[in-house]
Amino acid sequence: MYADLETSALEALTARLERDFGAMKARGLSLNMARGKPAAEQLDLSMPMLSSVVDSASCAAESGLDCRNYGVLDGLPEAKRLMAVFLDDIPERVVVGGTSSLTLMYDALVRLCLFGTDGCAPWSSLDQVKWLCPVPGYDRHFAIAEALGFQMIPVALTDEGPDMDAVESLVRDDESVKGIWCVPQYANPSGTTYSDDTVRRLATMECAASDFRIIWDNAYGVHHLYGEPGRQSRVLDIGKACDQAKNPRRYLKFASTSKVTFPGAGLAALAAAPENLDEIKRHMGAATIGYDKLNQLRHVRFLEDARGVAEHMARHARILRPKFELVARKLEESLSDVGGCSWSTPQGGYFVSFDAPEGCASRIVELAAEAGVTMTGAGATWPYGRDPRDSNIRIAPTLPPLHELDEALDVFVCCVKLAYARKLLE
Ligand code: PLP
Repeated sequence: MYADLETSALEALTARLERDFGAMKARGLSLNMARGKPAAEQLDLSMPMLSSVVDSASCAAESGLDCRNYGVLDGLPEAKRLMAVFLDDIPERVVVGGTSSLTLMYDALVRLCLFGTDGCAPWSSLDQVKWLCPVPGYDRHFAIAEALGFQMIPVALTDEGPDMDAVESLVRDDESVKGIWCVPQYANPSGTTYSDDTVRRLATMECAASDFRIIWDNAYGVHHLYGEPGRQSRVLDIGKACDQAKNPRRYLKFASTSKVTFPGAGLAALAAAPENLDEIKRHMGAATIGYDKLNQLRHVRFLEDARGVAEHMARHARILRPKFELVARKLEESLSDVGGCSWSTPQGGYFVSFDAPEGCASRIVELAAEAGVTMTGAGATWPYGRDPRDSNIRIAPTLPPLHELDEALDVFVCCVKLAYARKLLE
C-alpha cells in the first residue's frame, strides 16, 4: 500500500510514475470516459425502427387514429402500455411525453413551483425549498434543483439506497424539505439498487411537508448486464408502497427509452397517482396539444412489449458486459495494492463510481485531461459540484470501443497512482 511506503521508496515510485505518465502524454491520445452515452454499435441495434417500422402506409394507431395529425395529449394507449413496462406500473397511470425524461422531471418541478399541488402553496412563494440529494448522484438532477433555487442537502447513498435514518430525520420536522431525487435501480453513478426496506421507508416516513415528492427516476430499470432479475429481486414498486402507506400522492415516476433506442429521440413517460395525473394533464394541456405520436408508434412496433424490451436489452448487455468487466478487472489488477481507492461493480446501468484517496479526485481528472482522456469533472456527482472529500469520480465506460476503453483505463489508473503518490509526498 502506498501509504505504508518509506519516503525514499515513495520518491522512487513517483519518479517512475512521472515517466510512465510522460510516455502516455506523448502518445497524443484523445479518449472519452465522461458521459453515459450508448456506443455506436448499440445505436445500430435500433436502426430497424427507422427504416421500416413506420412508413407512409402505416401511420394508424391500433384504434385507427391517424397519427400524422394532432390529438391525444397523454399518449396512444399502446404507447402507455409499452412505457408502463419501463415504469413498472399500469398503463392507466402513464402519461407518454416527448423525448426526454429529464424535461418531464423539470416540468413537474416547475409546475409545483408555479402552481403548487393539492391546495398547498406554490413552492416559488416560499422563503425556502430544500431538496434531498443522495450522493454520489446525477449532475443533471442537481442542475435542475439548482436552477429552481432549491437548497440541496446531500444524503449518503448506502448499498441499499439513501441513508434512511438521515432522510427520515430531515423530513420529519422541516416543512421546507419538499422532496428527494431517487434513481432506484442501478443508480447513476454507483449502480446501487434500492432495497425493499428503503422503498417502504420512503413511502411510509412521516413528512412535515404534505406536498413532499419522491422523484423516482427509473432511468435504468431495464438496463441489466446479467439478465432480468427474478420477481423477488426486482425493486419494490414505489407506487404500490405509497398507496399502501396511504401517501398515494408522494411519488412521481419517470423513465425513457433514451438508452434503449436513441438518446434525444426516444420516448419519455411518467406515472403517478390518479389525483396527480389529473393535475399534470391539466397543466400539460395548456402547454401542448400532444406529443409525437409517430415516434410513439415507431417505439411500440419496434419494442412491442415486456418480452421485446427484455430481448432488446439483452442485445445491449452483450455489448456492454465486456466493457464493465474490463473496468472491474483493470481497477482490481492495477489498484488493489495501491490502497485508499474503492469502486462499485454494478450489475446494470451506465456507470462505475470510483472513490479516490481523499483530496485526489480533481488532480486525477486534470492529469487524465493532460494525457488526452476526458473524464466527468471531479465534484460533478455532488450538489453544486462540491465533493467535500474531493474523492468521487464517475467512470462512464459505455461510449468508447473496447480497445479505446482499455487505453483510457491505463491512463486513468496511472493518473490515480501518480496523484496519490504526489499527495503522500506533500
Ligand atoms: N436520469 C438519469 C439517472 C440519467 O442517468 C439520465 C442520463 O444519463 C437521464 C435521466 C436522462 O434521461 P433522458 O434522456 O430521458 O432525459
